[in-house]
Amino acid sequence: MHICTVCEQEFKEELSFDTEQSKCILHCDKSEDNGWFHIDSDGKKQWDNRKVNLFWKYIQNELDGMYEHSFWDTLEEELVYSGVIFPSFQLDIPYDSNVDNVMDLGTNFYSFNVFDHPRDGRIEGLNTIFNQIEITFDQCKFLDDANFSQYLLTEPLQFNHCEFEGSLFLHSEYKNRISFLNCQIKDLRAENIIFYEKVKIKECMVENINLYNTRFKDLCDFYKTTFTNVNFNKTNFEDISVFTEVKFNNDVNFQYTTFSELVLFRKTEFKKTVDFEDSIFKKEANFLNMKAKMANRETARIIKHTFEKQNNIIEANRFYALEMLKRQQELGWKNPFEWFVFTIHNLSSDHSQNWVMALSWIFAIGFLYTSGLDAVIYIFYISIFVTVNVLIDNYLSQSPFIHKIVQNTMILLMLTTLYAYIIWILPYVLPEDFFNSLAKNLNPFSTKPSEGDVTFSFIIYKVIISYLIYQFIISIRQNTRRK
Ligand SMILES: [Zn+2]
Repeated sequence: MHICTVCEQEFKEELSFDTEQSKCILHCDKSEDNGWFHIDSDGKKQWDNRKVNLFWKYIQNELDGMYEHSFWDTLEEELVYSGVIFPSFQLDIPYDSNVDNVMDLGTNFYSFNVFDHPRDGRIEGLNTIFNQIEITFDQCKFLDDANFSQYLLTEPLQFNHCEFEGSLFLHSEYKNRISFLNCQIKDLRAENIIFYEKVKIKECMVENINLYNTRFKDLCDFYKTTFTNVNFNKTNFEDISVFTEVKFNNDVNFQYTTFSELVLFRKTEFKKTVDFEDSIFKKEANFLNMKAKMANRETARIIKHTFEKQNNIIEANRFYALEMLKRQQELGWKNPFEWFVFTIHNLSSDHSQNWVMALSWIFAIGFLYTSGLDAVIYIFYISIFVTVNVLIDNYLSQSPFIHKIVQNTMILLMLTTLYAYIIWILPYVLPEDFFNSLAKNLNPFSTKPSEGDVTFSFIIYKVIISYLIYQFIISIRQNTRRK
C-alpha cells in the first residue's frame, strides 16, 4: 500500500504510483530524469506514451466513477484538480461518420468505456461528463500544450495559480464564466472565440496572447495582468472591459477593435507605444493615469477628446501636447515652415504645457542679449540651462501621477538655486551694471534698449521675448484652467 505525500490517497498498485517520489501519478514530477520524456534534436519534448496513457487512464477512471454515480444520484457539481502536474495531452481524434470511430474519441478528459447502468444494464459509450461539471484547476502545471478545444463546457471553468509551459487552446465557444487568476501562461490561443459570459484574466503573466476576431459578450477583466506579446485585431468588447493596472511590454495596436461599453485604462502601463487609430469607442473610456507613448497623432487626439468630454482639462492638455508633438514629427521636412513653428512651440514651452520652460528661455535670451553675445558666459549659462531642461523633460515624462503644479514648483526651486549660484559667480566676470541692464531688457513694456539706440538686433530680440512672455502666460493658463 502506497500513500501519496500530496493528496494523501492510498494506491494499491505500483502502476499509478512513483515509489521514489512517494507521489501518485497525478502529483509526481514528470521530468527527463525520471523517464517521462526526452528532449529531441529540435529541443522538443518527446513523451513516453506508455506513461502518458497511464496518466490519462487515471484521470478517465475518476471521471468514469462520477459518470456511473450520476446514474444513481444527481451529478456531482464540482471537480477540483489540485497540484496536478499534467504531461502532454493525448492526440484528439475527430469523429468520422463514415467509419463511426466513436471508440477512438476517448482521449484526455473523455473516455470510451462500458458502464453499469441500473436500468439499462451494461452500456457502451463515450463519457463526456467533463463538459457538465464546474472544473477548477488549482496550482496545476501543464508541461506541454494544453488542448481544451474539444470541450464545450457548460459550467464555469477556473484556473488558479496554474502554469502553462506550452500553448493553451480553448473551445471556440464558452457559454459560462472562465477565469485565470495568478497564472503563468506562455501562449494563450484565444483567437476566433466567442465568450458569452464573464472572462477574467487577473494578476497573470501572459507571454503571448492572440485575440484575433475574439468576442467578449460579457465583462472582460484583465486587472493587473502583464502581457508581453498581445495581438488585438477585430477584437470585440461588447460589455465593460477592464485594463486597470495592466502592463503591456510590447507595442500594442488595438486594430479594428471595438469597445461597445465602458472601457477602463486606469493606471495601465504601455512600456512601448499604444495605437488607437483604428479602434472604435462607442461609449465612455477612462484613461486616468495611463502611461504610454503615442504611436500616432490620432491616438493622442482620441485620448485628449475623452478627457475633454469628462471635463478633465489638465489631462486633456497633457495629451494635446502629445498630439502636437506627433504633428511635429509628421510634418518633418515635408513642410519645413510649419515644422519650424511647431518645433519652436515645442522647445519654448512644450506646446504651452510647461511655463517653467518658457520662463527659463526668457532669462536665457535676456542673458544672451544683455551680455552682448559674450561667448564664454553664454556657453557656461546655456550648458546649465540645457542640462536642467533635459532633467525637467525626463522628470515630466516619467511621473505623470504628480500634479503638474507640484512638479513645476519643485523644478522652480531647483532653478532658483541654480540662478542664485550663477548670480553669485557672475559679478566676477560681468560688467558692474549687468543686472540693471538685464532688468531693463526684460521689461516687456520698454521700447528702448538699456543703452544706445534702437537697432535691428533689438527689434529681433523684442519679438522673441514677447513671444516667450506670451508662451509663459498661456502655459500658466493651460495648467490651471480651460483653454
Ligand atoms: Zn497524489
